[in-house]
Amino acid sequence: MNSLGEIANVIRRARRFFLCGHVTPDGDSIGSVLALGLALESLGKEVILASPEPVPESLSFLPSAKRIRINFNKAPDFEIFIMLDCSEVDRLGAKISEVAKLAQQKIILDHHPTSGCTADYCYIDDTAAATGEIVYDLLEILDIEFTPEIATCLYTAIVTDTGSFQYQNTTPKTHLRASRLLSSGVDVARVSTSLFGEKPLAHIRIVGVGLKNLKLSPCGQVAWISITREMLADLKVQDEYSEGLINYPRMIKGVEVALLFRELEPELFKVSLRSKSEIDVNAIAKVFGGGGHVRASGCRLEGKLAEVERQVLEEVYRALRGNED
Ligand code: 5GP
Ligand code: MN
Repeated sequence: MNSLGEIANVIRRARRFFLCGHVTPDGDSIGSVLALGLALESLGKEVILASPEPVPESLSFLPSAKRIRINFNKAPDFEIFIMLDCSEVDRLGAKISEVAKLAQQKIILDHHPTSGCTADYCYIDDTAAATGEIVYDLLEILDIEFTPEIATCLYTAIVTDTGSFQYQNTTPKTHLRASRLLSSGVDVARVSTSLFGEKPLAHIRIVGVGLKNLKLSPCGQVAWISITREMLADLKVQDEYSEGLINYPRMIKGVEVALLFRELEPELFKVSLRSKSEIDVNAIAKVFGGGGHVRASGCRLEGKLAEVERQVLEEVYRALRGNED
Protein backbone atom coordinates (compact mmCIF):
# COMPACT_ATOMS: atom_id res chain seq x y z
CA MET A 1 0.00 0.00 0.00
CA ASN A 2 1.21 3.51 -0.79
CA SER A 3 0.60 6.92 0.69
CA LEU A 4 -1.41 9.51 -1.22
CA GLY A 5 1.77 11.61 -1.25
CA GLU A 6 3.62 8.87 -3.19
CA ILE A 7 0.74 8.57 -5.64
CA ALA A 8 0.68 12.37 -6.08
CA ASN A 9 4.39 12.20 -7.03
CA VAL A 10 3.75 9.49 -9.64
CA ILE A 11 0.93 11.63 -11.08
CA ARG A 12 3.11 14.77 -11.17
CA ARG A 13 5.75 12.97 -13.26
CA ALA A 14 3.41 11.47 -15.90
CA ARG A 15 1.52 13.14 -18.76
CA ARG A 16 -1.17 10.87 -20.21
CA PHE A 17 -3.82 9.16 -18.09
CA PHE A 18 -6.72 6.75 -18.52
CA LEU A 19 -9.33 6.93 -15.74
CA CYS A 20 -12.06 4.39 -15.16
CA GLY A 21 -14.56 3.25 -12.50
CA HIS A 22 -16.58 0.04 -12.12
CA VAL A 23 -19.37 -1.78 -13.96
CA THR A 24 -22.92 -0.66 -13.09
CA PRO A 25 -21.46 2.81 -12.54
CA ASP A 26 -22.72 4.86 -9.59
CA GLY A 27 -22.34 8.42 -8.29
CA ASP A 28 -19.07 7.65 -6.54
CA SER A 29 -17.35 5.92 -9.47
CA ILE A 30 -18.46 8.46 -12.11
CA GLY A 31 -18.05 11.48 -9.79
CA SER A 32 -14.55 10.37 -8.80
CA VAL A 33 -13.45 9.72 -12.40
CA LEU A 34 -14.73 13.13 -13.53
CA ALA A 35 -13.31 15.07 -10.58
CA LEU A 36 -9.86 13.53 -10.89
CA GLY A 37 -9.94 13.89 -14.69
CA LEU A 38 -10.80 17.59 -14.55
CA ALA A 39 -8.17 18.12 -11.86
CA LEU A 40 -5.43 16.43 -13.90
CA GLU A 41 -6.38 18.54 -16.91
CA SER A 42 -5.99 21.66 -14.79
CA LEU A 43 -2.36 20.52 -14.32
CA GLY A 44 -1.94 20.33 -18.11
CA LYS A 45 -2.23 16.52 -18.33
CA GLU A 46 -3.98 14.58 -21.10
CA VAL A 47 -6.85 12.50 -19.77
CA ILE A 48 -9.15 9.83 -21.20
CA LEU A 49 -12.33 9.42 -19.10
CA ALA A 50 -13.94 5.99 -19.31
CA SER A 51 -16.60 3.71 -17.86
CA PRO A 52 -17.30 0.04 -18.60
CA GLU A 53 -20.99 0.93 -19.05
CA PRO A 54 -22.88 4.12 -19.96
CA VAL A 55 -23.39 6.89 -17.42
CA PRO A 56 -26.87 6.45 -15.86
CA GLU A 57 -29.37 9.17 -16.75
CA SER A 58 -29.47 10.43 -13.13
CA LEU A 59 -25.75 11.31 -13.38
CA SER A 60 -25.84 12.85 -16.85
CA PHE A 61 -26.03 16.35 -15.30
CA LEU A 62 -22.44 16.03 -14.03
CA PRO A 63 -19.92 18.37 -15.67
CA SER A 64 -18.12 16.60 -18.55
CA ALA A 65 -20.27 13.43 -18.14
CA LYS A 66 -20.67 13.45 -21.94
CA ARG A 67 -16.93 12.96 -22.31
CA ILE A 68 -17.02 9.56 -20.63
CA ARG A 69 -16.21 6.91 -23.23
CA ILE A 70 -17.42 3.33 -23.16
CA ASN A 71 -16.05 2.10 -26.50
CA PHE A 72 -12.52 1.96 -27.86
CA ASN A 73 -12.25 0.94 -31.50
CA LYS A 74 -8.54 1.55 -31.55
CA ALA A 75 -6.15 1.12 -28.63
CA PRO A 76 -6.10 4.34 -26.57
CA ASP A 77 -2.77 6.04 -26.00
CA PHE A 78 -1.82 6.65 -22.36
CA GLU A 79 0.85 5.93 -19.75
CA ILE A 80 -1.01 5.55 -16.47
CA PHE A 81 -4.24 3.68 -15.83
CA ILE A 82 -6.11 4.86 -12.74
CA MET A 83 -8.80 2.54 -11.44
CA LEU A 84 -11.28 4.28 -9.16
CA ASP A 85 -13.83 2.84 -6.70
CA CYS A 86 -12.81 -0.77 -7.42
CA SER A 87 -9.73 -2.89 -6.92
CA GLU A 88 -10.34 -5.97 -9.05
CA VAL A 89 -9.85 -6.02 -12.80
CA ASP A 90 -13.05 -8.02 -13.34
CA ARG A 91 -14.99 -4.99 -12.02
CA LEU A 92 -13.80 -3.12 -15.15
CA GLY A 93 -15.67 -5.40 -17.56
CA ALA A 94 -14.10 -7.30 -20.47
CA LYS A 95 -13.35 -4.35 -22.79
CA ILE A 96 -11.65 -2.07 -20.27
CA SER A 97 -9.75 -4.97 -18.66
CA GLU A 98 -8.02 -5.29 -22.05
CA VAL A 99 -7.28 -1.55 -22.13
CA ALA A 100 -5.77 -1.80 -18.63
CA LYS A 101 -3.16 -4.24 -19.99
CA LEU A 102 -1.75 -1.42 -22.15
CA ALA A 103 -0.76 0.63 -19.11
CA GLN A 104 2.87 1.37 -18.28
CA GLN A 105 1.76 1.73 -14.67
CA LYS A 106 -1.48 1.20 -12.77
CA ILE A 107 -2.85 3.09 -9.79
CA ILE A 108 -5.81 2.02 -7.64
CA LEU A 109 -7.80 4.49 -5.53
CA ASP A 110 -10.56 2.69 -3.65
CA HIS A 111 -12.53 2.39 -0.41
CA HIS A 112 -13.70 -1.22 -0.67
CA PRO A 113 -12.15 -3.73 1.74
CA THR A 114 -9.62 -5.78 -0.26
CA SER A 115 -7.02 -8.40 0.44
CA GLY A 116 -4.13 -6.47 -1.07
CA CYS A 117 -2.71 -4.25 -3.78
CA THR A 118 -3.00 -5.58 -7.33
CA ALA A 119 -1.47 -2.54 -9.10
CA ASP A 120 1.86 -0.69 -9.12
CA TYR A 121 0.47 1.85 -6.66
CA CYS A 122 -2.56 1.52 -4.39
CA TYR A 123 -4.31 3.72 -1.91
CA ILE A 124 -7.22 1.74 -0.45
CA ASP A 125 -8.92 3.12 2.65
CA ASP A 126 -12.02 1.21 3.70
CA THR A 127 -12.78 3.83 6.35
CA ALA A 128 -13.39 6.43 3.63
CA ALA A 129 -17.11 6.91 3.02
CA ALA A 130 -16.55 7.29 -0.72
CA THR A 131 -13.70 7.13 -3.22
CA GLY A 132 -14.63 10.80 -3.69
CA GLU A 133 -13.19 11.49 -0.22
CA ILE A 134 -9.88 9.93 -1.27
CA VAL A 135 -9.83 11.94 -4.50
CA TYR A 136 -10.60 15.07 -2.43
CA ASP A 137 -7.52 14.43 -0.25
CA LEU A 138 -5.36 13.66 -3.30
CA LEU A 139 -6.39 16.94 -4.96
CA GLU A 140 -5.46 18.83 -1.79
CA ILE A 141 -1.99 17.25 -1.87
CA LEU A 142 -1.68 18.17 -5.56
CA ASP A 143 -2.71 21.72 -4.62
CA ILE A 144 -5.58 21.77 -7.12
CA GLU A 145 -8.16 24.51 -7.05
CA PHE A 146 -11.66 23.13 -6.36
CA THR A 147 -13.57 24.64 -9.27
CA PRO A 148 -17.41 24.46 -9.11
CA GLU A 149 -17.21 21.59 -11.66
CA ILE A 150 -14.72 19.54 -9.63
CA ALA A 151 -16.61 20.28 -6.40
CA THR A 152 -19.92 19.17 -7.97
CA CYS A 153 -18.42 15.83 -9.01
CA LEU A 154 -16.84 15.22 -5.60
CA TYR A 155 -19.96 16.26 -3.72
CA THR A 156 -22.02 13.85 -5.86
CA ALA A 157 -19.56 11.02 -5.12
CA ILE A 158 -19.85 11.64 -1.38
CA VAL A 159 -23.57 12.35 -1.12
CA THR A 160 -24.48 9.20 -3.07
CA ASP A 161 -22.16 6.78 -1.24
CA THR A 162 -23.23 8.08 2.18
CA GLY A 163 -26.96 7.89 1.33
CA SER A 164 -27.18 11.68 1.77
CA PHE A 165 -24.96 11.58 4.89
CA GLN A 166 -27.24 9.02 6.57
CA TYR A 167 -25.12 5.84 6.52
CA GLN A 168 -22.70 4.74 9.22
CA ASN A 169 -19.73 5.58 6.97
CA THR A 170 -20.46 9.32 7.41
CA THR A 171 -17.84 10.93 9.65
CA PRO A 172 -17.18 14.46 10.94
CA LYS A 173 -14.52 14.72 8.20
CA THR A 174 -17.11 13.77 5.57
CA HIS A 175 -19.13 16.83 6.60
CA LEU A 176 -16.03 19.04 6.69
CA ARG A 177 -15.14 18.00 3.14
CA ALA A 178 -18.75 18.52 2.00
CA SER A 179 -18.71 21.96 3.61
CA ARG A 180 -15.65 23.03 1.63
CA LEU A 181 -17.17 21.58 -1.55
CA LEU A 182 -20.33 23.64 -1.05
CA SER A 183 -18.17 26.73 -0.47
CA SER A 184 -16.47 25.98 -3.80
CA GLY A 185 -19.69 26.50 -5.73
CA VAL A 186 -21.84 23.35 -5.68
CA ASP A 187 -25.47 24.13 -6.48
CA VAL A 188 -26.76 21.78 -3.79
CA ALA A 189 -30.46 22.10 -4.67
CA ARG A 190 -29.79 21.30 -8.31
CA VAL A 191 -27.57 18.32 -7.47
CA SER A 192 -30.10 16.96 -4.94
CA THR A 193 -32.97 17.29 -7.40
CA SER A 194 -31.00 15.58 -10.18
CA LEU A 195 -29.90 12.73 -7.93
CA PHE A 196 -32.88 12.17 -5.64
CA GLY A 197 -35.74 14.59 -6.22
CA GLU A 198 -36.67 13.77 -9.78
CA LYS A 199 -37.09 10.31 -11.26
CA PRO A 200 -38.14 9.30 -14.74
CA LEU A 201 -41.67 7.92 -14.92
CA ALA A 202 -40.11 4.54 -15.81
CA HIS A 203 -38.56 4.38 -12.32
CA ILE A 204 -41.86 5.11 -10.59
CA ARG A 205 -43.52 2.39 -12.67
CA ILE A 206 -40.83 -0.11 -11.63
CA VAL A 207 -41.30 0.92 -7.99
CA GLY A 208 -44.98 0.02 -8.41
CA VAL A 209 -44.23 -3.44 -9.77
CA GLY A 210 -41.40 -3.95 -7.27
CA LEU A 211 -43.58 -3.07 -4.26
CA LYS A 212 -46.29 -5.41 -5.47
CA ASN A 213 -43.74 -8.23 -5.56
CA LEU A 214 -41.89 -7.31 -2.36
CA LYS A 215 -41.40 -10.30 -0.09
CA LEU A 216 -40.79 -10.44 3.64
CA SER A 217 -39.36 -13.47 5.45
CA PRO A 218 -41.52 -15.04 8.20
CA CYS A 219 -39.01 -13.73 10.81
CA GLY A 220 -39.47 -10.19 9.45
CA GLN A 221 -35.71 -9.60 9.25
CA VAL A 222 -35.20 -10.15 5.51
CA ALA A 223 -37.05 -8.39 2.68
CA TRP A 224 -36.42 -8.47 -1.04
CA ILE A 225 -37.63 -7.39 -4.47
CA SER A 226 -36.95 -9.21 -7.73
CA ILE A 227 -37.17 -7.54 -11.14
CA THR A 228 -37.17 -9.87 -14.13
CA ARG A 229 -36.69 -9.13 -17.84
CA GLU A 230 -40.33 -10.03 -18.31
CA MET A 231 -41.46 -7.30 -15.90
CA LEU A 232 -39.20 -4.75 -17.63
CA ALA A 233 -40.52 -5.78 -21.05
CA ASP A 234 -44.12 -5.44 -19.86
CA LEU A 235 -43.37 -1.90 -18.68
CA LYS A 236 -41.22 -1.19 -21.76
CA VAL A 237 -38.40 0.11 -19.55
CA GLN A 238 -34.70 -0.60 -19.12
CA ASP A 239 -33.04 -2.18 -16.13
CA GLU A 240 -31.16 1.01 -15.16
CA TYR A 241 -34.46 2.39 -13.84
CA SER A 242 -34.56 -0.24 -11.07
CA GLU A 243 -31.56 1.48 -9.44
CA GLY A 244 -32.47 2.57 -5.91
CA LEU A 245 -35.31 0.07 -5.52
CA ILE A 246 -33.45 -1.65 -2.69
CA ASN A 247 -34.26 1.29 -0.43
CA TYR A 248 -37.87 0.06 -0.12
CA PRO A 249 -37.23 -3.36 1.46
CA ARG A 250 -34.44 -1.72 3.46
CA MET A 251 -36.85 0.87 4.86
CA ILE A 252 -39.15 -1.70 6.50
CA LYS A 253 -39.02 -1.56 10.28
CA GLY A 254 -37.45 -4.73 11.70
CA VAL A 255 -35.66 -5.67 8.48
CA GLU A 256 -31.93 -6.25 8.95
CA VAL A 257 -31.05 -7.50 5.44
CA ALA A 258 -32.57 -6.12 2.23
CA LEU A 259 -31.97 -7.56 -1.21
CA LEU A 260 -32.67 -6.63 -4.81
CA PHE A 261 -32.45 -9.18 -7.63
CA ARG A 262 -32.17 -7.63 -11.11
CA GLU A 263 -32.14 -9.78 -14.23
CA LEU A 264 -29.49 -8.08 -16.39
CA GLU A 265 -29.54 -10.70 -19.13
CA PRO A 266 -31.68 -13.81 -19.43
CA GLU A 267 -30.85 -15.87 -16.33
CA LEU A 268 -28.04 -13.51 -15.20
CA PHE A 269 -28.93 -11.67 -11.99
CA LYS A 270 -27.26 -8.77 -10.25
CA VAL A 271 -27.92 -9.02 -6.53
CA SER A 272 -27.66 -5.98 -4.26
CA LEU A 273 -27.44 -6.54 -0.51
CA ARG A 274 -27.85 -4.06 2.35
CA SER A 275 -27.78 -4.52 6.11
CA LYS A 276 -28.70 -2.11 8.88
CA SER A 277 -26.50 -2.87 11.86
CA GLU A 278 -25.52 -6.51 12.41
CA ILE A 279 -24.88 -8.58 9.30
CA ASP A 280 -21.73 -8.40 7.16
CA VAL A 281 -23.25 -8.46 3.66
CA ASN A 282 -19.79 -8.14 2.10
CA ALA A 283 -19.03 -11.63 3.43
CA ILE A 284 -22.30 -12.93 1.91
CA ALA A 285 -21.56 -11.34 -1.50
CA LYS A 286 -18.07 -12.87 -1.42
CA VAL A 287 -19.56 -16.39 -1.22
CA PHE A 288 -20.82 -15.73 -4.76
CA GLY A 289 -17.67 -14.02 -6.06
CA GLY A 290 -18.91 -10.47 -5.40
CA GLY A 291 -17.94 -7.91 -2.79
CA GLY A 292 -18.49 -4.38 -1.54
CA HIS A 293 -18.82 -3.07 1.99
CA VAL A 294 -20.05 -4.48 5.31
CA ARG A 295 -23.41 -2.68 4.95
CA ALA A 296 -23.73 -2.57 1.13
CA SER A 297 -22.51 -5.18 -1.29
CA GLY A 298 -23.33 -6.92 -4.54
CA CYS A 299 -22.70 -10.00 -6.64
CA ARG A 300 -23.84 -11.65 -9.88
CA LEU A 301 -25.36 -15.11 -10.19
CA GLU A 302 -26.50 -17.19 -13.13
CA GLY A 303 -29.63 -19.32 -13.07
CA LYS A 304 -33.38 -19.21 -12.78
CA LEU A 305 -34.73 -16.56 -10.41
CA ALA A 306 -36.15 -19.03 -7.87
CA GLU A 307 -32.81 -20.84 -7.64
CA VAL A 308 -30.77 -17.62 -7.40
CA GLU A 309 -33.09 -16.30 -4.66
CA ARG A 310 -32.85 -19.61 -2.79
CA GLN A 311 -29.05 -19.68 -2.85
CA VAL A 312 -28.59 -16.10 -1.68
CA LEU A 313 -31.35 -16.23 0.96
CA GLU A 314 -29.83 -19.41 2.37
CA GLU A 315 -26.58 -17.53 3.02
CA VAL A 316 -28.50 -14.59 4.52
CA TYR A 317 -30.40 -16.86 6.95
CA ARG A 318 -27.14 -18.64 7.82
CA ALA A 319 -25.57 -15.26 8.69
CA LEU A 320 -28.61 -14.28 10.78
CA ARG A 321 -28.48 -17.59 12.67
CA GLY A 322 -24.72 -17.14 13.22
CA ASN A 323 -25.40 -13.70 14.61
CA GLU A 324 -27.82 -15.06 17.20
CA ASP A 325 -25.32 -17.62 18.53
P1 5GP B 1 -24.88 -1.86 -5.49
O1 5GP B 1 -25.73 -2.89 -4.87
O2 5GP B 1 -25.36 -0.48 -5.16
O3 5GP B 1 -24.62 -2.08 -6.93
O4 5GP B 1 -23.45 -2.01 -4.81
C1 5GP B 1 -23.21 -1.88 -3.44
C2 5GP B 1 -21.72 -1.95 -3.19
O5 5GP B 1 -21.22 -3.24 -3.54
C3 5GP B 1 -20.90 -0.97 -4.02
O6 5GP B 1 -19.84 -0.53 -3.22
C4 5GP B 1 -20.41 -1.77 -5.19
O7 5GP B 1 -19.22 -1.28 -5.69
C5 5GP B 1 -20.26 -3.16 -4.58
N1 5GP B 1 -20.58 -4.21 -5.55
C6 5GP B 1 -21.76 -4.39 -6.20
N2 5GP B 1 -21.73 -5.47 -7.01
C7 5GP B 1 -20.49 -6.02 -6.87
C8 5GP B 1 -19.82 -7.16 -7.46
O8 5GP B 1 -20.37 -7.92 -8.28
N3 5GP B 1 -18.52 -7.36 -7.05
C9 5GP B 1 -17.89 -6.56 -6.14
N4 5GP B 1 -16.60 -6.84 -5.80
N5 5GP B 1 -18.49 -5.49 -5.58
C10 5GP B 1 -19.76 -5.21 -5.92
MN1 MN C 1 -17.88 3.88 -3.76
